[in-house]
Amino acid sequence: MRLENKVAIVTGSSMGIGEAIAKRYAKEGAKVAVNYFKSESKANDVVASIIVGGGSAKAFKADVSKIPEIERLVKEVMDEWGKVDILVNNAGVFHTVPVMETTEEIWDATLDLNLKGYFFAVKTLVPHWRKTGGGKVVNISSIAGTGAFPNCPGYCASKGGVVNLTRALAAELGKENINVNSIAPGNVATPLNAHVRGPGNEEYIETMKTFTPTGIDFMDVEDITGSAVFLASDDSKMIHGETIIVDAGWSVW
Ligand code: NAD
Repeated sequence: MRLENKVAIVTGSSMGIGEAIAKRYAKEGAKVAVNYFKSESKANDVVASIIVGGGSAKAFKADVSKIPEIERLVKEVMDEWGKVDILVNNAGVFHTVPVMETTEEIWDATLDLNLKGYFFAVKTLVPHWRKTGGGKVVNISSIAGTGAFPNCPGYCASKGGVVNLTRALAAELGKENINVNSIAPGNVATPLNAHVRGPGNEEYIETMKTFTPTGIDFMDVEDITGSAVFLASDDSKMIHGETIIVDAGWSVW
């Protein structure tokens, strides 16, 4: 087990990629704070499945786009387990809207959760890590942050922001034994994109297959968990400000 005796917060882990990371971290020995905003029953299901498997986890409600709620989340996890070793900034929202339909409300909702929340979660934990001697941050970006796509300018801006926020945090915090890195997934089958994978979208799915040299349209959530364990473990001690692209090869051409 690679994360024994560690405590991890995984934001937005009641479903999708966050759920898979939470479950994998628990298998690797970490106590996992399963953060959710609205989906309490799903978060409880994730916790129950971790506990049945012999792991430790608890559900924590917090809207991680809001600074007071981030601070409360961190305090509640500290009260429960006495420390936090690993933060996975995963919660995210994806609005597919072209430039001229992007309202200030959509822009703010996207940036508040996907970028501002990531920064303030790290800022909240830094004083704690200064006392404990270090910590690990795994930010979930996207290939919409290393490249760009039409019809989602706010999302691309937020995810590109995460890539450079990761570098900026690493530049400042690396000397304090705080590793800040990120993962940029390609297409992963999750509730976030269920609407484009259902019946009637066969042509779209076939096109997606041609976008990767592997012929994979949507990866499984488990495909992201190996790099998330690596970046939370001692094996990545000397890796700072890096973004690992996990995209079934999408970016090679
Ligand atoms: P998802 O919609 O399945 O899960 C998102 C999670 O965030 C959910 O658990 C949701 O409840 C939670 N959440 C939403 N708003 C929240 C808030 N205000 N506070 C706390 N939690 C909140 O999405 P996913 O596909 O699993 O995405 C997870 C991350 O991976 C996101 O940052 C997303 O941008 C990124 N990503 C996804 C893909 C993909 O293809 N699915 C690709 C690249 C990057």
